[in-house]
Amino acid sequence: MSSIRAPRKRPKKTSVGGDLSAPTPAQWAKMTSYGSFVVTDAQGQEVVFRLGDTAAVLPGNKKIGEALELHKYWVVKIMAIRGKNVLATKSRGTRGKGKSEYWIKIRWFYSPTEVSWRIPGFQAAHCSKYERIYSDHSELVSALTFNELLSVQKFHEDDPDQPRIDCDQFYTRYFLKTSSKQAQISSYILKTSMDLGHSVGCICGKPYDVNSAELFHIMHLCPRPRCRGFYHSCCLLEHGYWTRMTHPLLRLSNSPDTDEIPMFASKSSKYAARLPADLLLLAAQPMVRGAALDSLGLAGNCHDVTFARRTVYAAMQGTKVPDKWRDCVDLAAAVVDSHLPMLELDGTGEELVLMCPHCHGPI
Ligand SMILES: [Zn+2]
Ligand SMILES: [Zn+2]
Repeated sequence: MSSIRAPRKRPKKTSVGGDLSAPTPAQWAKMTSYGSFVVTDAQGQEVVFRLGDTAAVLPGNKKIGEALELHKYWVVKIMAIRGKNVLATKSRGTRGKGKSEYWIKIRWFYSPTEVSWRIPGFQAAHCSKYERIYSDHSELVSALTFNELLSVQKFHEDDPDQPRIDCDQFYTRYFLKTSSKQAQISSYILKTSMDLGHSVGCICGKPYDVNSAELFHIMHLCPRPRCRGFYHSCCLLEHGYWTRMTHPLLRLSNSPDTDEIPMFASKSSKYAARLPADLLLLAAQPMVRGAALDSLGLAGNCHDVTFARRTVYAAMQGTKVPDKWRDCVDLAAAVVDSHLPMLELDGTGEELVLMCPHCHGPI
């Protein structure tokens, strides 16, 4: 892969409106394509940026060397790399001579605040400072503005297998379409309401507020393939979506892989004794997320509980539980029931479990 080398320099870009000194479409068409480029960072280390990479670029109003927290950088995805006069530059050994020679076609990741300016009703306050909204807004920016590589993890809110997202990690759960007459925002969900015939969001219509540490704002996911909804516990309680907890393993009747009740539910007592108690405990946890459970990161414990339920269902079919299954989960964080409010029936003290509004399964 051929590379070009860009000197580190204060960017000319002054806003997300684009760089006025960027090549015209005709100039861009004549430039040579590259697979990567190199920038020397503030510590003198060379950083290689490649096609497809996600990177932090210095905001136009910041000076090189100025201390800046990572979440304040602009975030881009590299779509194309082109240079002009590269051979001449190399032969002189001047590497650009103060003039930007290399231009990168990028797609912007918007900040939540920027999206709130374009989408009426979009509340930036429900997003973390590391949240970015990927877009189809493409521009040319100078290679000189690139600061460092970073990863932006995709957050599928309806995915029972969603891997962990740390609270100080960049992530994206929405896509912003800017090419249409009016900007539109959509969620990165695996199944749309068209597929399911119902919305995957809470009955209140409010999104997952990753900053709310309110215990009753914790969201419960129904993992069933025809459901995949996530609901605030306060909304489920308010609308009467609860039932009696008739068995400690009741939630195992809710599988991420079938809308039917797995065989385990009807034979649970007989088989449970053969399985590790901590595996069963994990499998029977509610799938939850929320800032009140910050040790789980933003995506909650769904991934680990899904793993445990699948392991239990497989054991039911005769598959041996892997010896090192505990290495695949964060058992201490994912077992959450002691951190959740105890739900009891008034007067009787009978334990309650929340119920999916769609399939009425225990969640
Ligand atoms: Zn709600
Ligand atoms: Zn359901």
